[in-house]
Parts: sequence; structure tokens; C-alpha cells
Amino acid sequence: MDIKKFVRPNIRSLSAYEAKDIPCKVKLDANESPYGFKDALKVVKSINTNRYPDPAAKELKKLVSMELRLRTENIMHGNGSDELIYYLITTFGGPVLYPIPTFSMYGIISQALGEKRIAIPLDKEFDLELEKILKAIKKEKPKLIFLSSPNNPTGNCFSSDRILKIIEVSNGIVVVDEAYQPFASDKGFMPMLKDYKNLVIMRTLSKIGLAGLRVGFLIADGEIINEVNKVRLPFNLNSLSQAVAVKVLKNKKALKSYTKSIISERGRLFSEIAKIKGIKPYPSEANFILFRVKEPDKIYKRLLKRGILVRNMNGVVNNCLRVTVGMPEENRIFLNAMKEVI
Ligand code: PMP
Repeated sequence: MDIKKFVRPNIRSLSAYEAKDIPCKVKLDANESPYGFKDALKVVKSINTNRYPDPAAKELKKLVSMELRLRTENIMHGNGSDELIYYLITTFGGPVLYPIPTFSMYGIISQALGEKRIAIPLDKEFDLELEKILKAIKKEKPKLIFLSSPNNPTGNCFSSDRILKIIEVSNGIVVVDEAYQPFASDKGFMPMLKDYKNLVIMRTLSKIGLAGLRVGFLIADGEIINEVNKVRLPFNLNSLSQAVAVKVLKNKKALKSYTKSIISERGRLFSEIAKIKGIKPYPSEANFILFRVKEPDKIYKRLLKRGILVRNMNGVVNNCLRVTVGMPEENRIFLNAMKEVI
């Protein structure tokens, strides 16, 4: 029996997202935080495993609403922001427009749902090609535009005046994905929400120490939240993740100090990488640094031989590797190895 015959054509041509489990000593490939919250796991003892989770994640959303000074009606919880991207595209459909290179899931999920994709290359500074995007908006009328700012994998924020222009001109929804906002120097787009009804913001706890829990948020006008909520699976966020996330979000001091340490390590890592001959690092507002080398595949393999795992972006951004900012000791090991392998 040829199963492939029954698979939708758009799924047949799709490749599964590969998250290879590569053994290593120093893991700097997935933009995770090096700091976890093991102590917070104590709260799971009080969970009744026989009961379903709170479908509205009330306590968690209340905390987030207080932190962001918003109403809970403007927030929706997701099993990571990945799930929220799925829900947005399910709700609004395509065409879906995004710049490239960027986070791959915008394209993968659009394809899985059979929606048209419009990918517009970034300019030489990794900023948005405003004219090309405005032209595409006029011609293709995208229902959804995804802008990751800071952008993964380039690390920069897009110019806010270009983002604003896109929001103003677009007849569809503009999603500003602020997964890396805690590490950025500006305030992000949250203050703009009151002025633009078609603006949606995505946030996640994955980059600040809770990647294993899968907790993300959509922040938008109440009407948008209501529509997207129709496609949300009722128990999308499990009880353990809800409880631990609540505990961790209350620990503002630790969250702040870990973020501060990552930002300061990023500065040190950047200037040390810049000193190595033959490497060009790109300035970053996120918890990772993209850098250009002559022989990325060789360098990647040689680092891995020394137990250091980074992300090989060659093919996505020519001749580039991406390294996540780790603990000071991990960054030191990476830098020493890099000096050797180059
Ligand atoms: N958006 C961007 C820009 C990302 O880089 C990532 C993770 N790599 C995500 C969203 C997904 O985050 P989550 O773990 O919340 O699904």
C-alpha cells in the first residue's frame, strides 16, 4: 500500500523539522538559556494528575497581564509560540508573508496548511526591504505578515519605522514575534498595540529558561484573540507547565539577573569573536550571535569534535554559523576552541 498516495500534496513535499540529538559537552545550538529553574519544579507535587489542566490558564495569564499591564482578554496562551503560529495561520489563512532568512516555522506551517508563502529577502544590513514588501502587500494582499524582531538567525532588530509602515499599509494581520525581546535594547512593539488593531505580538518563555515547558503568548486586540481562540485545543497547556511557569514568573529577581548576565556575556563574546582573524560576527540584540567564516562546514565539524555544538546556518545565511550565548565558562570553552579550529 502506497501511503504517500493518500497524503495531501503540500504535506508530501514537506520535510519534517529536524531537531537532531547530537551528543556534545557544550550545547550552544538552540538559543536556549543556560539558566534553568529546577527549584520551581517543587510545585508540581500539588498537581492532580487525574484532572485536566485549566483550559483558560487563568493564574498564568493573570500574572502575565499584570507584568505587561494588559487585560487578560488581550492574551492567549500556547504550547510554545510554535503552536500560536499554527493557530494564527489556521485562523486567518494566507498568503503568508515573511522576510528571509528568518525563523523557519512561519514557512513550514504555512506549507503544512496549504497556504501561499511570500518570502522576501532581507537587505545587506539584514533589515527589511521596505519597498519590495510594500509592493508585495499591494499585489498579493497577505492575510498574515510575520516579522521576528530581534530576528532569528541574524540577531538584529528591524528598523521600527519600517515595521510601523508595514503595519500601517497592511490590510492583514502583522505579527511581531518578540521571542528575543528580553535581550533587546529597545522596548519592542507592546506600546503600539493600542494604536494598531492589526498588530499581534508573540512572546515566549523558551529563551528565558523554560524551553522545556513550552509556554508562549499571543498579545493582541480582544477580537483577534477571540477568533484565534476558536481553533485553540482546549487543554493545550498542561498543568505542570502552567504551575511551574507561574512559580518562575513570580521570581522576577532571578529572571532579571539571568537576562542581564546573558546580555553582558553577549557583549564579551562578540568582542572576543571579533578579535579572531577570519571571523566576522554580526551585532546581536538576541541571546545568540551569527558569525561568518570561510569554511563553515569544516569549522562546525571541528568544533563538534571538541564537544561544542553550534548551529550551522550555511545554506540559510551563506558561510555563517550561529552560537547561543551560554554560561561564562561555556563561552570561554567555545572561544578557545574557535581560536584553535580557525
Ligand atoms: N519565534 C522565534 C523567532 C524563534 O526563534 C523561536 C524558537 N527558535 C520561536 C518563535 C519558537 O519558540 P517556542 O519555543 O515558544 O515555540
